[in-house]
Amino acid sequence: MASVRFERVTKQYENGYVAVKDLNLDICDREFLVLVGPSGCGKTTSLRMLAGLESITSGHIYIDDRRVSDLPPKDRDIAMVFQSYALYPHMSVFENMAFSLELQGVPKADIQQRVKQAATQLGIDTLLDRKPKQLSGGQRQRVAVGRAIVRNPSAFLMDEPLSNLDAKLRVQARAELNKLHKRLGTTFIYVTHDQVEAMTMGSRIAIMNQGILQQIDTPQTIYEQPNNIFVAGFLGSPSMNFLEATLHSHDHQPIVKTSRFSLPLKRHNLEAYIDRPVILGIRPESIYHPNYLPPGIAGHDIQAEVSVVETMGHERIVYAALSREEEIVARLDPRANLTPGETINLQIDSDRIHLFDPDTQQAI
Ligand code: ATP
Repeated sequence: MASVRFERVTKQYENGYVAVKDLNLDICDREFLVLVGPSGCGKTTSLRMLAGLESITSGHIYIDDRRVSDLPPKDRDIAMVFQSYALYPHMSVFENMAFSLELQGVPKADIQQRVKQAATQLGIDTLLDRKPKQLSGGQRQRVAVGRAIVRNPSAFLMDEPLSNLDAKLRVQARAELNKLHKRLGTTFIYVTHDQVEAMTMGSRIAIMNQGILQQIDTPQTIYEQPNNIFVAGFLGSPSMNFLEATLHSHDHQPIVKTSRFSLPLKRHNLEAYIDRPVILGIRPESIYHPNYLPPGIAGHDIQAEVSVVETMGHERIVYAALSREEEIVARLDPRANLTPGETINLQIDSDRIHLFDPDTQQAI
């Protein structure tokens, strides 16, 4: 059992820099929570405060309703896997995995059994006599996870554990960690700056920016209903398109107008924004080539001049200019054969657009 609660946690470093501001976060028992955000947003600091490796300036952290803010790391019953793996180079894989159990005074026979079991689970049981330098990056990463597993902690904290692996291995390791989480049935708190890792691994994701929690929810909900412009732009690749626009009303129906096109909106809660500027957000996959508009979607024409076409095999990423200053990016059907310089009537699905308040940056 391990639920975790951050209650108004702030971290100000000695030089005055506030890395985490008033963080409130509830993590459920057995949850796979991913803490994600750009470099420097305060995610590692948050994890280190939970692990007890960094002091808390104000607020409290609870594990299972037990206040741990003042407990040393060893009394928190959690294990951390670091980005660097932090393996002891002079020790074998077995010794690396056994080390913390020896410190705890666990009997030798138990250590043998626990290390062997964890190594088998992770597929590294044939490597127990090797030193870290005789291992590949992927194998080292598994040893680092194995060292955490043998302790049988009530929560695992992981700080970018896959960032040193190549792209293919990372995809594989992502799936393995997901399976491990299901098998162990333990709380995982995982830090990454990689939005794809966050989307694919987290049962919920918490997005931070500049020390402030922006939104916490399931990956799908955050993707479909981002709270603000930062979250909307952070998740999704290529990023959401943002265009300056104004809202108008025609026959009681709201219309969003940019300098180049207008879209009718079906929403009814927009009275306060009529005749005011807004930011229009359009995900690249909500834009279609006219010949490949799926049935049931009412497309709205926008004329654009194709500037760059990236052929990805399963889709085409197309950058197109709406005007001299404004460009949009679209994820089009791979059969959409386009050449730079061509003018095209792209189709926008107006049911899937987003609106933001330009002053507050919050979703409308
Ligand atoms: P990254 O993905 O780059 O590791 P992060 O989101 O994990 O970034 P943190 O490592 O938590 O970010 O750092 C948050 C901010 O606090 C950064 O601006 C960093 O420069 C600053 N910071 C971290 N450690 C210290 C320190 N010991 N003293 C002063 N500032 C620090």
